Amino acid sequence: MSIAQNLSEIKSNLSEGVELVAVSKTKPSSAIKEAYATGQRIFGENRPQEMQGKAEELPKDIQWHMIGHLQSKKTKYIAPFVSLIHSVDKLSLLEEINKRAAQNDRIIDVLLQVFIAKEESKFGMDEDEVIELLNSEAFKTLPNIRVVGLMGMATNTDNEEVVRQEFKRLKSFFDSIKNSSVSTPLNFTDFTVLSMGMSGDFKIAMEEGSNMVRIGSSIFGSRN
Ligand SMILES: *Cc1c(COP(=O)(O)O)cnc(C)c1O
Repeated sequence: MSIAQNLSEIKSNLSEGVELVAVSKTKPSSAIKEAYATGQRIFGENRPQEMQGKAEELPKDIQWHMIGHLQSKKTKYIAPFVSLIHSVDKLSLLEEINKRAAQNDRIIDVLLQVFIAKEESKFGMDEDEVIELLNSEAFKTLPNIRVVGLMGMATNTDNEEVVRQEFKRLKSFFDSIKNSSVSTPLNFTDFTVLSMGMSGDFKIAMEEGSNMVRIGSSIFGSRN
């Protein structure tokens, strides 16, 4: 099937209010143009320089989301234009994003990546680390970032129940921040995004309360 057909199939399966991030990492700009032509505007990348190159070449109304692990020193490549960074996993990265955002005279929206999977390899913070970060003195001094929600990746397994429990847990943590059952200095009207679900598990993620899904291979085909 074509990219346009894949997109239309996926969109027909999205629950109301769920945003689609089309994950175009490793794929050529021509593939992004095909998706863009159908009206898709949010694209996800995981390498800063690749995102920068594509952003220079492609239409300016694309919203670029950084979804992969971000090294602090590479933040400068995306700070001028990135629309949302999903993968903040430590305070020092938040400080660097704040600095680069200030240099570009912008406020950059970010999600905190929470570790929910069983695998060792997935990046992210655990719940205690998130709360500690949000309540740290240093966090109060970052006027050029806005924490708008959380992101998580479930274990890569065929066991749907494991995946469902992990998403459920993240939704419950998200809600506890949102309704202040854990204390944080966040502005709750800004705290609205729960990014969870990929090609293999986005339906479960939506059932468990995701409002942003990140889908790559089901749109653009498998990556090498
Ligand atoms: C690659 C990637 C995706 C998309 O994965 P697919 O299985 O191709 O849909 C989503 N989220 C993150 C963080 C990724 O790195």
